[in-house]
Amino acid sequence: MTYRVILMQNESCELCEGTLEYKHILARFRFLGETIYIENVPAWVCTQCGEQYYDAPVYKQMEQIARHKERIERMISFPLAEFEMGMPA
Ligand SMILES: [Zn+2]
Repeated sequence: MTYRVILMQNESCELCEGTLEYKHILARFRFLGETIYIENVPAWVCTQCGEQYYDAPVYKQMEQIARHKERIERMISFPLAEFEMGMPA
């Protein structure tokens, strides 16, 4: 899934033209090669395909948070698997 920044609100989804819903999400944010998760990020989420859009000030704020690592509250771990074509069933 990719993330885009939008400046205008109440647009429809760029991918499927679905309706965007404003809500607070657990956002995955890539910054300088690292992935961090930020809780309670206000975002526009497509009700059809789940694509997520952030308003520009929100995106800037996430960059700030990523830059200041002392804001990181805890480390979480999650299972990570490589996708591989043609794996034996
Ligand atoms: Zn969509």
